[in-house]
Amino acid sequence: MTTVLAASAAGIPAVERAVSLAREARLLGSTAAILGWDQETMMPGGGLGHRSRQLAQLARLEHGMATDVRLGEALAAAEDAVRALPEDHADRVNVRELRRDFDRATKLPADLVEELASVASIAQHEWAEARKASDFARFRPWLERIVALNRRKAECFGWDRASGEPWDALADGFEPGCTAREVAAVFGPLRARLQPLLDAVRGAVRRPDGSFNEHPFDVDAQERLGRFVCGAIGFDFGRGRLDRSTHPFCGGSHCNDVRMTSRYSPNCVLDGLGSSMHETGHGMYEQGLDPAWVSTPMGEAVSLSIHESQSRLWENQVGRGMPFCRWVHGAMREHLGSGMDRFTAQQVFEAANVVEPGFIRVDADEATYNMHVMVRFELERAMIAGQLAVADLPGAWNGLYRDYLGLTVPDDRRGCLQDVHWSGGMIGYFPTYTLGTLNAAQFFETARQELPGLEEGFARGDFRPLREWLTAKIHRQGRRHLSGRLCEVVTGAPLSADPFMRHLEAKLKPMYGI
Ligand code: ZN
Repeated sequence: MTTVLAASAAGIPAVERAVSLAREARLLGSTAAILGWDQETMMPGGGLGHRSRQLAQLARLEHGMATDVRLGEALAAAEDAVRALPEDHADRVNVRELRRDFDRATKLPADLVEELASVASIAQHEWAEARKASDFARFRPWLERIVALNRRKAECFGWDRASGEPWDALADGFEPGCTAREVAAVFGPLRARLQPLLDAVRGAVRRPDGSFNEHPFDVDAQERLGRFVCGAIGFDFGRGRLDRSTHPFCGGSHCNDVRMTSRYSPNCVLDGLGSSMHETGHGMYEQGLDPAWVSTPMGEAVSLSIHESQSRLWENQVGRGMPFCRWVHGAMREHLGSGMDRFTAQQVFEAANVVEPGFIRVDADEATYNMHVMVRFELERAMIAGQLAVADLPGAWNGLYRDYLGLTVPDDRRGCLQDVHWSGGMIGYFPTYTLGTLNAAQFFETARQELPGLEEGFARGDFRPLREWLTAKIHRQGRRHLSGRLCEVVTGAPLSADPFMRHLEAKLKPMYGI
């Protein structure tokens, strides 16, 4: 493995110039990120109008710097200068990835960027109203405009005309190099193996004990427990924060200032704890990035799916496993008071693994979650390809929910109006959730092979070996590899649904007696 030497960029003046121009734009972006965090956590409501003007101004300035013709010239010179270096050399990676960013930023005409932003902001409002009233007709013209604009956007970016499709050009913004064909090649076998498992779970006589999910605990005590667990698994509170917000997220300005949020539900400890561990997975990825490469691609996360692999790994692979539950049960007794006396570690474990098909993606369990994502992928792919008219979306949605989850969707509020993504113009985003889940399982399976005694350590509260392994193998690599290649480098095999299915089957079959 190549060792990253921060000093290497200083060796080639052309690279140094391109990197320093790009760093200026990224510095501005990281400033906006802190203002965005503040808006969600601390800012009084009265600040909203001025804050949105501040953010719009920063976005304009950043876009100007990121598309500056001088950066384009510097990149051309840097490309010549790195041509002889090995492909995964840090300087060459930085130049390659800066070129990717520059091209994406410059390929869209300014009028299209503006139209997308203004349509998305109205569409988001119309979507929120439409969802409240379960009124698809209200949202329909806006989604039609968003699909049309995204098809224009795809034309601007371009895609492989021989074997690709326009969806690829959109997904590339979230998951560089991702194509619908590759996603379908992983999702097909996933569904083929997941469906019979879910059918068996549905017909099982034995059910896990979910009573721990219905017991009230003080929310402040839950927050203290969450902070304790996040610190124990490895989040560095000297270089980050954990606050509350309505929608949990992980942001911040750079690896030494990571801002996470969580939320707590009075009647379900595992909701808040799962969300805190999820965000901590994101947060530790950010903290694990190489500080020497701040504001350059070598110091940035690979893609949304790899980011999500880190959150799902801690939330699901670790957090829903018996060794972790054994340890966290002790921490719960300490932080949650006498209410915990009636619950055993086994009950915590079973409550964390109840499988129940439902209508709402964000409430879904570890097993059914991926079905929700596969439905959205099929539908957005068809809309962008022009094979599904927006007017036919509710019917198509409901049909797929019957096929994939065996559910009859009662209304569009609990159907095709539930997610914010499409209204915000984000098409090509959804698959990254499941790709992240699959990457998490494959990474974790490899870590277990390479680190003997790993899970016995979890039962004692020792998470350091896993955290250090992830930092070395994934975080410190920055954007050296695209996600597919990174998976192969770390695990020795291309991404597959098998490790995830092995993980689920090993856990759920004994629990449900199937
Ligand atoms: Zn996440």
